[in-house]
Order: sequence, then C-alpha cells, then structure tokens
Amino acid sequence: MQCKTGADHVRSLLDGRAVYLDGTRVEDVTTHPAFRNAIASAARLYDYQARSENLELMTFSPDGGARRVNRCWQMPRSYDELVMRRKALQAWAQQSYGFMGRSPDHVASALIGQRMGIEVFERHGPARAKALADYVDYATRNDLFLTYVIVNPQADRSKAWGEQAEELVAQIVDEDTTGLTIRGAKMLGTSSIMANEVVVANLQPLRPGEEALAFSCALPMNAAGLRVLSRKSYEAHAVSVFDNPLSSRFDENDALIYFDDVKVPWDRVFVHRDTDMCRAQFHDTPGHVFQNYQAQIRLAVKVRFLVGLAHRITEAIGTTNMPQVREQLGSLAASAGMVDAMLSGMEASGGMRGAFYLPNRHQLYAAHVTTQELYPRLVDLIRELAGGSLIMLPSSVRDWANPELAAILRRTQRSPNFGSEDKVKLLKAAWDAIGSEFGSRHTQYEMFYAGARYVTTVHSYRTFDWSAARGLVDDLMAGYQRETG
Ligand SMILES: Cc1cc2nc3c(=O)[nH]c(=O)nc-3n(C[C@H](O)[C@H](O)[C@H](O)COP(=O)(O)OP(=O)(O)OC[C@H]3O[C@@H](n4cnc5c(N)ncnc54)[C@H](O)[C@@H]3O)c2cc1C
Repeated sequence: MQCKTGADHVRSLLDGRAVYLDGTRVEDVTTHPAFRNAIASAARLYDYQARSENLELMTFSPDGGARRVNRCWQMPRSYDELVMRRKALQAWAQQSYGFMGRSPDHVASALIGQRMGIEVFERHGPARAKALADYVDYATRNDLFLTYVIVNPQADRSKAWGEQAEELVAQIVDEDTTGLTIRGAKMLGTSSIMANEVVVANLQPLRPGEEALAFSCALPMNAAGLRVLSRKSYEAHAVSVFDNPLSSRFDENDALIYFDDVKVPWDRVFVHRDTDMCRAQFHDTPGHVFQNYQAQIRLAVKVRFLVGLAHRITEAIGTTNMPQVREQLGSLAASAGMVDAMLSGMEASGGMRGAFYLPNRHQLYAAHVTTQELYPRLVDLIRELAGGSLIMLPSSVRDWANPELAAILRRTQRSPNFGSEDKVKLLKAAWDAIGSEFGSRHTQYEMFYAGARYVTTVHSYRTFDWSAARGLVDDLMAGYQRETG
C-alpha cells in the first residue's frame, strides 16, 4: 500500500525554491528556524494519514489501484461521500486545533471543485480544459501540497487593477509557442514556503481591457524567477514550545509572491486572457464553494478549541461557577454549536450538480459571513473572561530554571484547579492563541481569508432565494385590502 508520508513531503521541499526572510535567501526551508517546525507539522499530517489505523478514514484510491491519497482529492458523488470526506478533513484540522488554515486540503478542495465544473473550462477552450483536468489528476495522484495566490496586492484601491502602477499586479508580459511569461506580484500565498506548487488566478473582478491580468496557471515553487518574500516568522520569535505552543509549531507563514518573468508552459495554463473566465473559474464551477466549505470544516474545530480554552481559563482563575461567567460560557458554547449546525445543514441541504454532490451554496456563504463576524467577537469574549491572567505570566520558560524566581512563581501563580506550572502553561497557550502576534494574525485571517465583508456579503446576497422570501411578503400583501367605510 503506497501513501505519501511526512518524510516524502519534507524531501520534496528540497527543490531550490527562492524563499527570502530578513534580507537573505533561505537555503533550506526544512531546517531553517523560521520554518522547520511548521514544516514538521505539515509532515505530521501526511504521517497521520499513512498510519494503518487511519488509512480508511483519511485516504482513498483515485484510480482503484494500490496508491492511496488524501480524501481531500475525492470528488463526492453522494451525501455519504461528502460526509466521509469532511470527516477526513476534520481529523486533519484537529492535528493543529484548526490553526493551519492552508493545510493541503484547502487548495485541493478548490481544485476538485473546479474539476467538477470542467464544462466551464471546455467553453473557454478544449486545450485549457485539458490542462486543468490533467493538472488536477497529476496533483491528485501525487497528493501534492498546493498553495494559491488569487488576490492582487493592495496598493491604490480607488483604481482598477489594470490602472495600478506598472509591474505591481502579476500579468502576462509575453507569450510564444511554448507558453506565457508573467511578471508582477500577488498579495499573499499562505503556506507557500512548504507547498509543492502554487496555483495562480484572479478572483477579484476584472474589466474588459485588463486581459493581460486575466490568466490562471500552476507552477512548481522552484520555477525560475518565482520569489517568495516571507512575512515576519512568528515561529522564529517563539521562545519555546512551553511559552508559545501554537506559534512555535503551526505558523504556516504568509508570503508575497513575486513573478520575475516566470515562464509558464501551455499545459499549465488554465485561463488565458479572459476576464469573465477568471470569475467563472471560481463561481460557475463548484470551486469557490468547495474551498470555503473546507474553511468552515476547519473553523468548526478551531471554534471548539477556543470555547474549550475559555472554559479552562475560567477553571484556572476560579470563575466557572459565577452566574455571569456561566452565561458567557453558554454563549460561547452556542457559537460552537451554531458553527457545527451550519456545517451539518449545508451538507444535508446540498444537492447534486451533474454527477457530484455539493453543499448548499447559500448556506455556505451564510456561514462564511456569520463566522467572519463571529471570530473577533469570540476572541473578545475570551479576553473578557481572562482579565489580566493572560499577562501576569513569567517572561519565559527560563524563569523556572532560576530557583529564586521559581519559588516566587509557585507562590504567586495560584489556581483553585491547577498547579502553578500547569496554570502558566494553559495561560501561555491561551495568549498564543488569541493575543500574541500569531494569535492576532489569526483574527486577521478569519476576517479576511476569503474576502473582506463587503465581498462575502455580496456572495450571500446573490445566492439567497429572494423570490421565496419576497413571495412570503407578497402573499401577506395579497391577503387583505384597505378596509372601506
Ligand atoms: C492572514 C491572511 C492570509 C491570506 N492568505 C491568502 C492566500 O493564501 N492566498 C491568497 O490569494 N490570498 C490570501 N490572503 C488575501 C485575502 O484573500 C485578502 O486579504 C482578502 O481577499 C481581502 O482583500 P484585501 O486584503 O485586498 O482587502 P480589501 O478588499 O482592500 O478590503 C480592505 C478594506 O478596505 C475597504 N474596502 C476596500 N474596497 C472596498 C469596496 N469596494 N467597498 C467597500 N469597502 C472597501 C473595506 O473597509 C475593507 O474591509 C490572505 C489574507 C490574510 C489576511
């Protein structure tokens, strides 16, 4: 039985990719202190799926052969297959408590969604449809870890993308019989330091005349001219696992991707100079639905973790049984229940699109808008429950090694339910989750990973059954007249 393992993945990253951090090029991302633990966490996902007891839960055979790959590549043909696939994604999300948003199942979900709508690419052109289908099959067979860059860099938001300064937005600058040449940037590729390949596309609306920007393709991370400019690494600044249990291990990274005249062969080009096809690639296929459905599956795990954290914090400071605190915990529990219910709801009220079963589109967007607003509120509520306990903490694990300080810590880090060291351990984890630079990036992530609120609410607006809703009002109106006399 063949299945990708963590060691396979780590080995695949030794490919000469051009990752830059703090002004220098990183020779080997797998051993660099800014990235190695996050990469080890990604590798553990593959080891998890390769364990014999997890193979059935986590993997399937795409062609009926011995080689098994993660279920994220499975195109569900029934409600039962959708749920089976979700359970695999949820098991992966649990390995990082939902903090690795761009685990390999995210972009895989986007791509199988696009593959399920291959007829949309066929209308664009048979060669482009073949390129997309072949690429998804290739990525599936090899269980690739993909990232994507589908959003343009912020510069002047009052101007159209085509009006931005020259060499800002990634665009086609040349093409010949072998393929395209692209130059410019995309805003962020999360997990790009540890992905095998990057899918490049344009999700934001383009206007006629902006055809040079209207392309989609896939490139290996070591493509000549592809530069990965990492943001600050939270992993590198984590003091220890005890002090920063999340940022030291699950900092999946975000990086600006710059294409410095990168050549893309035609068999990797999925959309070519077609502004409407850039939209259709996501929205006329189930691509956008599946990528955001994956995000809700992961978020359900993260919300449960945060709610559990809130409960533990109240235990640590002895407030759990206060009526007002119970009320807040009850409200947090309701949020976790709501996120789970929305997930089950969108699955149960989904339906067939051709041969494939999809979650309910409007309910997915409803969940997205709701959770985008929910996440910062959850964080605020946990801060409120915790008070200064998240700050009244030793500077680092090294304080415990000083007997004089350790004695004071044991006297001052008191809790009705935890020993002093366990109390500090818990509260350090809580701060890492919601208050550290890593935690703060997570709030930004949950608020923006798939568009600002003005974008996500438009998806909710356009997919809602307004005629049914308006029909109820019309029915009421039709049932009575102005009384006369
Ligand atoms: C942590 C993180 C990770 C990310 N990872 C990825 C990734 O892996 N791949 C990827 O492709 N992208 C990624 N992104 C980018 C993400 O998709 C974008 O941030 C998101 O789509 C929002 O776009 P924007 O940042 O340009 O914000 P904008 O669209 O510029 O919105 C920012 C704010 O400007 C205002 N605004 C701007 N335009 C309007 C308007 N027309 N109407 C009303 N208000 C407006 C609103 O106040 C809005 O909240 C990531 C982002 C974050 C924060």
